[in-house]
Amino acid sequence: MEISFRGKHALVTGAGKGIGRATALALARCGAEVTAVTRTQADLDSLLQECASIRPVCVDLSDWGATEAALQHVGPIDLLVNNAACANLQPFLEVTPDKFDQAFSVNVKAVLHVSQIVARGMKARGSGGSIVNVSSQASQCALRDHAVYCATKGALDMLTKVMALELGPHQIRVNSVNPTVVMTEMGRLGWSDPEKSKTMTSRIPLGRFAEVEDVVNSILFLLSDKSNMTNGVTLPVDGGFLAC
Ligand code: NDP
Repeated sequence: MEISFRGKHALVTGAGKGIGRATALALARCGAEVTAVTRTQADLDSLLQECASIRPVCVDLSDWGATEAALQHVGPIDLLVNNAACANLQPFLEVTPDKFDQAFSVNVKAVLHVSQIVARGMKARGSGGSIVNVSSQASQCALRDHAVYCATKGALDMLTKVMALELGPHQIRVNSVNPTVVMTEMGRLGWSDPEKSKTMTSRIPLGRFAEVEDVVNSILFLLSDKSNMTNGVTLPVDGGFLAC
């Protein structure tokens, strides 16, 4: 299936590392103009070395005012990938308010805010658009030490559905991908221990974690006009984990 984003402008958050970085590069390869948003300048510098056409924006998305200012001049966006997130693992009884607030402000509040900024422009131009939120299997299945992360992703799934409901009449589609573990920096944080990772892979019918490209391909599909009638879905990219 050939997907082209020629003539489209895409914005990807958390594009410095992992899934977001690979998504930004894939979108550029498919012809999109890409704005990459993340908070570590060194990651943007190395991303630009890989793909000089990418436009960098360095901002901490947990800062509402700084985000507003940073995205003020990015111009019209057709495709948005809300990918940035943090995962602070803590046993439920040890969850601290600072980690709770940080996770909700990046994983949920920033998604709402960036989407508001982008979707207002889409609505004003009447050109429609497509938004993909990067959620997780953790939105629908309890994982030990992931109380706050699971709660943020559960909230994100419902945000996706309400956005689909309210933005649909403006021809703006909103969907999420819900991957299983991917061995990025974030994935390694929770799943490097072979004993622990075995307990997870044994519950995945395909018997393995997802590759970054597995997630990127599903994001590209949901962004593209190949999924024109798909709106408000949470698409597992989990080898069947959530089906069992
Ligand atoms: P990584 O930790 O590898 O990359 C996350 C990126 O987001 C980094 O570039 C990071 O920048 C950026 N980011 C984090 N917080 C902020 C912030 N406040 N402002 C701006 N940028 C920020 O994560 P993954 O690629 O693994 O994860 C991407 C998405 O996939 C996330 O939504 C995650 O929840 C989801 N996911 C991941 C899974 C996995 O196992 N890896 C499984 C299921 C879902 P910096 O490094 O500078 O903080």
